Amino acid sequence: MMRLSIRWRLTLWYGIALAIMLCGFCLLLLLFMRQQMFARTDAGLQEEIKEIRVEIGLAESTTSFRTAAESRFTQHAFYEFLVSDAAGRVIFASSKLNSLDKPISDSSPGSTQTAFTNVHIDHLGLYRIAQTSAESRLGVLNIQVMSPLAPLYADLSSLQWAMTGLLPLGILLALAVGHFLAERALAPVQKVVDVANSINITCLDRRIEVPHAHDEIGQLASALNSLIARLEQAVSEIRRFTADASHEIRTPIAALRAEAEMALRSPRSPEEYAQALEVVVDEAIRLGRLTDQLLHLSRHDAGITLNLHEPVQLDALLPDVVDQLQPLAKIRGIALHCESDLPAEVLGDDIRLSQVFFNVVENAIKYTPAGGSVAVRLRETGKEAVVDVEDSGIGISPQDLPRIFERFYRADPSRQSEGGAGLGLSIAKTVVAEHRGLIDVSSQPGAGTKVTIRLPKSSYDKLSISAQTELAQAT
Ligand code: ADP
Repeated sequence: MMRLSIRWRLTLWYGIALAIMLCGFCLLLLLFMRQQMFARTDAGLQEEIKEIRVEIGLAESTTSFRTAAESRFTQHAFYEFLVSDAAGRVIFASSKLNSLDKPISDSSPGSTQTAFTNVHIDHLGLYRIAQTSAESRLGVLNIQVMSPLAPLYADLSSLQWAMTGLLPLGILLALAVGHFLAERALAPVQKVVDVANSINITCLDRRIEVPHAHDEIGQLASALNSLIARLEQAVSEIRRFTADASHEIRTPIAALRAEAEMALRSPRSPEEYAQALEVVVDEAIRLGRLTDQLLHLSRHDAGITLNLHEPVQLDALLPDVVDQLQPLAKIRGIALHCESDLPAEVLGDDIRLSQVFFNVVENAIKYTPAGGSVAVRLRETGKEAVVDVEDSGIGISPQDLPRIFERFYRADPSRQSEGGAGLGLSIAKTVVAEHRGLIDVSSQPGAGTKVTIRLPKSSYDKLSISAQTELAQAT
């Protein structure tokens, strides 16, 4: 079933609520008017009963009362009168009732209270009757004073018709006003929708106008604006990442191609071919490493997490990494040594962790001139295993230091010959963060750099993991 727009739903709800209120109001008004009219009629009847009591009190005999009553009450514009004795004989009746020979309804002589009833009188119609008894020299008399109800009901019915006619008009007017108000209230929403629809990937710099920041529409527009800003930032990061990645991939591919073309251009000696193939293998290794790094980052961005529950012995892993890098250190003339005597176990992914330490130690070797030293030390605090990688190299300037964890950032692009794409430290940071650890770099330009990696020890980490699991189960 098609759903009505909010504008029409608001209009309908407004119309229905107003119609119910108007009907209730009209009903109450009619009941109130009816009650008021009867109260006024009853007060008038009571007044007339008082008058007639006075005449009864003054009368010496039935005849003198009848004579006095005939002169005063026979012809009355609004009321009819009937007085009868205790035996039910009519003593006096006004002009319209003089054909009656007994009281209109059962009289109850003796009660001086006035009782009111509605009675239909033949040929005359519906009347309101006030009835009471009066004790006098003439004995107990029953007094009945009545007033026709037709004019009262005619007034009520005209009021009712007027209301029945005006009610639909009122509801129609309410619907029109409701629709107008809903349209006015929702007009800014349409504006927001139009602007939001016009924004796409090519114009993410557009923003929705926020005329009143504190009302609901203003809050909606602000929320959409901040969503668009986040999208803009994410898209620009993806663009930058794609551009940097393609640039980095293009360099080894161009080198591969140039080397292969050079080798094919003219016949060469077997040594020259071997040399060319060595370059090709180096570039292929560089390309392979770069694609591994890119794959790792895109997996991390896609939220694919590592297996972090395997125990990893850092005191065994660090000497392995150092052993792998000893040949490089030797070629570069750098003294590389490792101090990892204490047992230190963490929970995590041993392959990823060794890649992190490999990158950091390799950086230390790469950026330390020949004759320098690189030390890898393992220590522990109460909860953490801490690895320091300290070199006596060129150091990092204070301007570059805050940016070295950014993707593709190289402190000095002229050192591209070192082979890195500027991804090593950003990957190290994501892997360490996934292990609930911290990586920190301090450096003194010209004096050296110290990279500190802190990882929670497995005993503490198991406790915190089981505490987290218990908390998750409890909630
Ligand atoms: P790369 O692969 O280029 O080495 P990294 O992300 O590992 O990229 O490092 C980023 C930048 O940080 C490097 O280009 C280098 O300029 C600087 N850097 C990292 N480690 C050191 C270090 N030990 N000494 C001096 N500079 C360093």
